[in-house]
Amino acid sequence: MSKTDAYEAVIGLEVHAQLSTATKIFCGCSTAFGAPPNTNVCPVCLGMPGSLPVLNRQVVEYAVRLGLAVGCRIAPRSVFARKNYFYPDLPKGYQISQYEEPICLAGHVDVAGADGSPRRIGITRIHMEEDAGKSIHDAGAGTLVDANRCGTPLLEIVSEPDLRTAQEAVQYLAFLRQTVRYLGICDGNMEEGSFRCDANVSVRRKGETRLGTKTEVKNMNSFSSVERAIEREIRRQIGILDEGGAVVQQTLLWDAERGEVHPMRSKEEAHDYRYFPDPDLAPVLVNDAWVDEVRRSLPELPAAKHARFAAEYGLPEYDAGVLTQDRSVAEYFERTVRALSAKGRDAAKTASNWVMTDVLRSLNERQCTAEEFPVTSERLAAMLDLLLDGTVSGTIAKELFADMLVSPDAPKVIVERKGMAQISDTGAIGREIDAVLARFPAETARFRAGETKLMGFFVGETMKVMKGKGNPKLINELLRTKLEGRS
Ligand code: ADP
Ligand code: MG
Ligand code: ZN
Repeated sequence: MSKTDAYEAVIGLEVHAQLSTATKIFCGCSTAFGAPPNTNVCPVCLGMPGSLPVLNRQVVEYAVRLGLAVGCRIAPRSVFARKNYFYPDLPKGYQISQYEEPICLAGHVDVAGADGSPRRIGITRIHMEEDAGKSIHDAGAGTLVDANRCGTPLLEIVSEPDLRTAQEAVQYLAFLRQTVRYLGICDGNMEEGSFRCDANVSVRRKGETRLGTKTEVKNMNSFSSVERAIEREIRRQIGILDEGGAVVQQTLLWDAERGEVHPMRSKEEAHDYRYFPDPDLAPVLVNDAWVDEVRRSLPELPAAKHARFAAEYGLPEYDAGVLTQDRSVAEYFERTVRALSAKGRDAAKTASNWVMTDVLRSLNERQCTAEEFPVTSERLAAMLDLLLDGTVSGTIAKELFADMLVSPDAPKVIVERKGMAQISDTGAIGREIDAVLARFPAETARFRAGETKLMGFFVGETMKVMKGKGNPKLINELLRTKLEGRS
């Protein structure tokens, strides 16, 4: 047994999701990204004495949406607290958060364990809080502060220490990100920091039930950083324990370039936050009727959509998973299937194949959403109908799709204009085949002598002279008849 096998890792994640509300959590300032520094501010988010916060109702609704989506209990009463610390980007000297009485409690998320069996990961709590501003370290001007982000609403989602590998942590994170996007409450952008995560990591000998000393790893801005940082930290801790040492509880920063973690300056983490209930904000009371109303307004969630796509359209699990990754892609697929004249499993599978490959690739290349895509679901359906009814061949359909990306014309119009229609006239195909066989007498003889794998060669040559427009099924049939001398 290698030394790594003697240990298991224990991981808990703290995820911050920046909410996509138009205004901040306790004032009417805009949350728009990219405004000139210190322009989206007011006395409330700057913490001027005498100003009073007023809670944004939408933040509470978003918290409840997420709580319900991950099976949390919604607290009828929750309380905002002040988390006191000093830092230049926090003008009030405290962050308004929730502490002892958060709004959502005891939820869960299922991930696939290493052996593929589902593993339930507990969510301890979800609470509402405000973001701090940004310090800008400008060599020429020292440290500058931009308070635009002060008061931007966040949800903090805290997991139980139930994760055991970096891969599980990434799955959990991906699931949460997919969920907040489906709910329309956060854009999930890790690079821009609107969806971020801190990883708490410890290791212990297998069989041990007590938790080991944890470290907290910060500063990961992609899934791959999260995975690499956790793996690296697990290895570091195992190395320490294996040499008889002890892990020191501390906060570490991930350095993606070097692939290492480094301790944060210890002064910055020596915190005593002196939490206490914020006297300026009344407890948040939510009643069952309103919670039910929010529950009814939830969209179909990824897992349910996945299951329904597999059942309703007879799609393979793999397809259902890819298509439901993103809500707008899933809806695009579904609109396409509904717009098709052709019905049934094969038509749905054809639509799935096209959305999973050509459409997703184009969306990616153009960095656009399914709503902005020039080939709308209706146009894709019109094109697929031409493919399904044999008007165009599969090869030509690819060409047609490329044309539709740059031309607003209906696919039918493009097919007519460019003479793309498939040739299914047996007389015309037969004449092309006769010409091909005449051009390749040696190959024809070899085929007739039993070398039947030459079939592909003849199909290819015939397709080539017909510029991809020959009906492949008819070409195959006619070739077989002619080569096997049954004509
Ligand atoms: P702290 O007070 O340091 O913030 P918490 O108890 O609030 O610690 O837990 C923060 C996160 O750390 C949670 O996600 C929790 O699951 C995780 N966690 C707590 N103890 C451990 C441990 N020993 N190893 C790994 N993760 C842990
Ligand atoms: Mg904590
Ligand atoms: Zn403000």
